[in-house]
Amino acid sequence: MLIRKTVLIYFSLLVFLFSANAQNEALSKIDIPDLKEYLTFIASDELQGRELGTEVDGLEITANYLADYAKENGLKPAVENYFQTVPILHTTLSTDDFIEVNNKKGKSVYQSKELVKINQTPVVYKLDEEPVTFIGFGENIESLGIKDKLVIVAQGSAESFSGEEAFEWQNRVERAKINAIMEKEPKALLIITNPKDKENKTFKQFQGWMSRQGYSVKADDDVTEQPAVLLSTPNVADALLGKKGQYLKYLEDVAAGSKASTEVSETLSLKTGKEPELLEGKNVIAYVEGSDPVLKNEYIVFMAHYDHLGIGKDGDVYNGADDNGSGTVAIMEVAEAFASLNEKPKRSIVFLWVTCEEKGHFGSSYYCDHPVFPLDKTVASINLDMVGRVYDGSRDDVWKDSPKKVKDFDGLYTLSNDVWPELAEINAAHCAELGLVPDTSLPKERFLRASDHYHFHKNGVPILNYATGYHADYHKVGDEVERINFKKIKRVADLCFLVGLDLANKEDVEF
Ligand SMILES: [Zn+2]
Repeated sequence: MLIRKTVLIYFSLLVFLFSANAQNEALSKIDIPDLKEYLTFIASDELQGRELGTEVDGLEITANYLADYAKENGLKPAVENYFQTVPILHTTLSTDDFIEVNNKKGKSVYQSKELVKINQTPVVYKLDEEPVTFIGFGENIESLGIKDKLVIVAQGSAESFSGEEAFEWQNRVERAKINAIMEKEPKALLIITNPKDKENKTFKQFQGWMSRQGYSVKADDDVTEQPAVLLSTPNVADALLGKKGQYLKYLEDVAAGSKASTEVSETLSLKTGKEPELLEGKNVIAYVEGSDPVLKNEYIVFMAHYDHLGIGKDGDVYNGADDNGSGTVAIMEVAEAFASLNEKPKRSIVFLWVTCEEKGHFGSSYYCDHPVFPLDKTVASINLDMVGRVYDGSRDDVWKDSPKKVKDFDGLYTLSNDVWPELAEINAAHCAELGLVPDTSLPKERFLRASDHYHFHKNGVPILNYATGYHADYHKVGDEVERINFKKIKRVADLCFLVGLDLANKEDVEF
């Protein structure tokens, strides 16, 4: 009995020593010269700030660099060539929008650029010599046959029109009116702003909103060909009705109840919108497969965005060494450490370098909409965003404007959600092991939305987010590799490894 017990203790001790040894060996793979080498490249001017659309495609170069690295270190590709393509639309200003009134003979009698499309689809909308039907304020819609017609409706209501009230756009009223009309399946709807709005305030406001340029993730389905809702000014209506001031007179008649719908012999031609340019972002996804035949189908995801802000108007390169070169290289080293283990942990460990966080979390939101590994089998998603700075007290001129002082060498901002409360405890235990102090003081309602972890949080995945905090160089040209504290990055990467290993081997994970 005694002998058996001794053997058992001796055996467990051996296993413990062996795994402690393997663990230390793996931790030794996370080393400062490597971190420095990788970050010096990623945060170099040559990559032009790792943004879409720069002359040198630094974003693509970084993606290739990460994929090559994953391959060299024996990580498995989670998708072909490690790349998950993120389709991104780049919308630029459309300069050839027009609305035109044609007479009976098809001759253009009025032309203007006063046209906006106020619903989302389709992107480019065109009509050619289309007959029109005026339907007043869109009241008594049941009695009007408007299916497949281009209908023109007035902003506001008969009641508000005869009153002295303001002519401002009442969103609730207009929304209800648009919905009622669209149910009758017109070809398109053209809303004419109130003629009392002499300065065209409403039209200009919409024009400002709808002509926004920028980037967005392309939706999966091409949007259905639903009829357009357009907005123009009384000038067009006057031209259709024959002369200046005619539209106001028409509306007065409608408001007085003496007129409802009117058809005219003039027709409308118009075009609005411009086809956006389709760009490709890339998430880089590699993994270390778990060793347990069942648990390998559960995942721990390490994530960091590798993009930054590109080049400023003055030609300065925003290198984003901390944001988020630091997180990018930290999980490179964590990946190497996991890949180096002879005996792999039970669950699979995923390394997800996401693109275009700075443009609106494009890579992470796309991943969560198209998860390569099921989100309900994702035990935790651990996001690193800015983990390379420490306030050392010697550069007060640089740091004094910081909205939130970077923590000292032992501090680490740590955010978790409430999906699996034990995760925060596991994290705290490993922080203690490394002498790190998790600071959980960041307000969750704000910071859960602040970076890529948000999309996992939204999908009910337990999350952790590490950061060393804001600093005076945040989103400035001064976010350079010279100001990085590599010892701190190593501590964060070590923590990632220990937390990841623990989560990957843990017996019972329930949330
Ligand atoms: Zn960032």
